[in-house]
This record gives sequence, C-alpha cells and structure tokens, in this order.
Amino acid sequence: MSANFHTERQSITTEPDVTIVGGGIVGLATAFFLSRLGIRPLVIERLPTPASLTSRRSGEGVRAQWGLRHNIEIARASIAFYAAFGARIAIPERDAGYRPVGYLYASRSEDGARRLKARFDMQVAAGLDDLEYLDPSEVRDRFALLSETVTGAVFRAGDGVVVVSDIVAGYLAAMNADIMLGAEVGRIAREGNDFSIETSRGTISSASVILADGARLPAMLQSLGIVLPLRLARSSILHVKADGIPFDHPATIDVDLGSFWRPDAGGARMTASFRNTLFLDRFTDDPAPDPDYLAHAIATVSPLVPRWADIAPSIADSHARHGSFAVSGDGAPLIGPIDAMPGLYVNGAYGGHGIMMSPEGSRRLADMVAGNDASTPNPFHPSRFAAGNLPAPEPMTVNTNEASKETR
Ligand SMILES: Cc1cc2nc3c(=O)[nH]c(=O)nc-3n(C[C@H](O)[C@H](O)[C@H](O)COP(=O)(O)OP(=O)(O)OC[C@H]3O[C@@H](n4cnc5c(N)ncnc54)[C@H](O)[C@@H]3O)c2cc1C
Repeated sequence: MSANFHTERQSITTEPDVTIVGGGIVGLATAFFLSRLGIRPLVIERLPTPASLTSRRSGEGVRAQWGLRHNIEIARASIAFYAAFGARIAIPERDAGYRPVGYLYASRSEDGARRLKARFDMQVAAGLDDLEYLDPSEVRDRFALLSETVTGAVFRAGDGVVVVSDIVAGYLAAMNADIMLGAEVGRIAREGNDFSIETSRGTISSASVILADGARLPAMLQSLGIVLPLRLARSSILHVKADGIPFDHPATIDVDLGSFWRPDAGGARMTASFRNTLFLDRFTDDPAPDPDYLAHAIATVSPLVPRWADIAPSIADSHARHGSFAVSGDGAPLIGPIDAMPGLYVNGAYGGHGIMMSPEGSRRLADMVAGNDASTPNPFHPSRFAAGNLPAPEPMTVNTNEASKETR
C-alpha cells in the first residue's frame, strides 16, 4: 500500500471522509496514522511536491529535553517512533535516518551551570529519567572538543538527528491515502453535515477536515472565525562544509550565547542564536536571510567549542536555510478538535519542533478522529486557550508569551 497521487480533481472519485489540508511532515504523519486505523484520507497540498516547504528546511534535530511533562512525553514517544521507524511503518528496510548523537546543553558560567542543574532536576522530576548532569571534568573527559572553561552540562544520549526525506518517503510508501498535489485550499465552509472545501482544482466535500497547513494555520483559522493565540516566527539554519568535526559529536548548545550546532555529513549545521527566532509581522514562506550569518554563527559556537574558530578560515562552502512556522501561546502544538465546529481538527503550531513532535502528535490526533480518544486529558487541546486562558509556557520554546524565549 502506498500514497496515490492526483493532480486533477476529477480523479478523486469518492468524497473523502477525512481531508487533511497540508502535505508537510505533519499532514503526512497524520495521513499515515489515519490509514493505519483503516481511514483513507485525502491530503491536499498546494505545492507540486509533498513536504517541500518548512519541513524540508529544518535542522532535523530531535530531542526529548523539555521542561514540561507533556512536551517531554510527546517528543520522547516521537523519537522512539523514529528509532523503530521500519518496524512501526511495517516496511523493515526503511529507516528515519535516526542517529542518536545526543544533545549536550553546556555553560561556561557558574550561573549557567546552576540554571542547567536546576532545569535538570525539574526535567528528571517531570519524568525524563535518562538524562545525565555532567560536571566540568566529566564533560571534558567525554567530549574533548569542549572548552576548558565549561562549567557544567546536561546530556541525553537518545536525542539526535533524523533525515526528513527518508521519513517522508517512508510515510508515503506506508500510507493508504490519496494526495492531491498543486491544489490550494481556499474557503472552507460547513454545508449540512459536511464541509465544503474549495480548492484551486475544484470543490471537495468531506465529513471531517484536519488543518495541517503549517505557517498558514493562523490565517486559515482566522478565516473560519476561530481566534487562538498564534503568531508567525522564522528560524534559520546554516549548513557548513568543514573538516575535523566528528560525525558522532552531540548536537551542542551553548546556553550562555544561545548557539546550536550539530554534526552533519561533511560538516555541520548551526544556528547562531536560537534566541533570535524572530516573530514575523507579515506572512512569508521565505524570510529574508540574515547578513553575515556565517561570521555570527562561528562567533557564537566557538567560545564553547574552540575548534570552530580554528576551522573557520578554511570554510569555503556554506548556505543558510530560512523558514517560517506558527507558534502558540504556550509554545506547544495544537492537536485536537475545534469544539465550536464539530468535524474540524487542528494538527499544527509545532513551532521549531514539528519534526521531533509530530509522530506522536499525529498518532494521537488520528485516534481522536477515529473516535478512539481515551478519556485522559489532552494537554494540546486547542481549547486550552479558551476565554483568554494561557497555560504555563514551555520554558524551552519560543511562544507568543515573549517572556520566555529558548528553542531547539
Ligand atoms: C530553519 C529551521 C530549522 C528547524 N529545525 C527543526 C529541528 O531541528 N527539529 C524540529 O523538530 N523542527 C525544526 N524546525 C521546525 C519544523 O521544520 C516545523 O515544525 C515542521 O516542518 C512543520 O511541519 P508542517 O507540516 O506543519 O509544515 P510545512 O512543512 O510547512 O507543511 C505545511 C504544508 O501545508 C501546505 N499548505 C498550506 N496552506 C495550504 C492550503 N491552503 N492548501 C493546500 N496546502 C497548503 C504547504 O504548502 C506546506 O507544504 C525548523 C524549522 C526551521 C525553519
């Protein structure tokens, strides 16, 4: 069984029970999990290729190091899914490109080390029981590239990286779904018991609609009269070709400067400052590049890993990828029904974490759509923001509450 692609409205011969707007990694994961439950959805994607927008530009990092229990749980389950990808999609020869290089959060200041230790205690209390706190000598013994000035670090070995194109190929091979490409969804309206979905290739009628339209989610919800605390943000990641970077080095975060890098084939990917994930005032798929990004990135990764300063003069090849995404009031995704409009669901606003959280988020959403919803409370329910309520923001995300800014 694999995805059935369409480019004409006429070739969709039966009206789908469930239609997914958006064929990024979130829409495809949702289609995969629905088809596992015996529901054959229709995915509508405006671009000619699936998952070719924000999902394609991601850093492909996956980590379970979060501050709140529900975010730890959704990320940890998603990483476990990627680790066993072939078995989970029932195509054993496929994998998600998962490399558990680990995520290492480190500081060079006494205050930073204290804050890392306090966060470590909080994370362990929230259920992250496979985390290690490392004092300076332990850090240096295990990770020789780190500066002698390191004061403390937190490490989780099971965090790491994946390959989005492999995941997308796996979902497409394993799902029983229709995918209409090059069709943009415009107006969605309730008509009797169904939704009428206008697309650039004709109108579709469907009992249920799932919005998985990435950065276009806030505007789509607004057009339906649904108000939720959502904003658009942008992020950048620099791909650097460089010798001398161990391929199995952990993804490394300088919590003092807010920089991030992780090893990649032939070099690394880096973010100069994850705290500069910026809110956008106007919609764009293609945020403007930052000038001098390479120099800024090197300046912010070198204090913790001095080898980057040594390598910098020989870097001849680098390019940055920039993308936009929706972030919610508490920095956690929206996964669940819109109560005011029965049959309408949201799977989005994953912010900078849609690769690392969408398998479990989509599995849960598929269960809800199929009516298998357990009675356990859903911490990602869009109604958590009802009546101006703002749940405690996840301390390790960017969220619309500007007070807390930390990501990746
Ligand atoms: C620079 C950068 C680095 C990142 N690094 C990481 C990382 O390391 N780890 C991580 O987990 N996440 C990371 N992210 C975030 C991650 O990429 C996103 O959370 C994820 O890709 C969101 O997936 P999506 O399917 O919701 O969005 P998208 O991939 O954008 O897919 C949405 C799809 O919906 C389609 N669509 C929208 N509107 C319509 C419409 N009206 N009709 C039809 N189709 C429509 C779009 O064309 C698009 O294909 C990063 C993001 C950026 C920009």
